[in-house]
Amino acid sequence: MVSGPENPLWEGKIYRKYGSNWHVQRDAAKHRDGYACKHCGTSEHAHGRALEVHHIVRLLDFDSTEAANVLTNLITLCTKCHRKADSELYRARKAAQGYQVPPARIRPG
Ligand SMILES: [Zn+2]
Repeated sequence: MVSGPENPLWEGKIYRKYGSNWHVQRDAAKHRDGYACKHCGTSEHAHGRALEVHHIVRLLDFDSTEAANVLTNLITLCTKCHRKADSELYRARKAAQGYQVPPARIRPG
């Protein structure tokens, strides 16, 4: 099954899942990060395709997409590093490197 940007339904899914301000916040994060992967330094030009923007704390851990899309929770990554970013270990390391990782919200019930 095709997932991610190759999936023709991806843009629509992103809008519903990532919230209405996602595209603006994603572009702002890339601009802040100098259009380069913050983990390995690969530039968007060298990457050969658009770099990805990762939520340091999962979207699921927030009550709203707008809260999850704050710039302090976003980091620009290449495709390879984005895969690594899915591990808890990686998030913990980013926090240790000085990223202001917002605390996960505890959901009632
Ligand atoms: Zn990278």
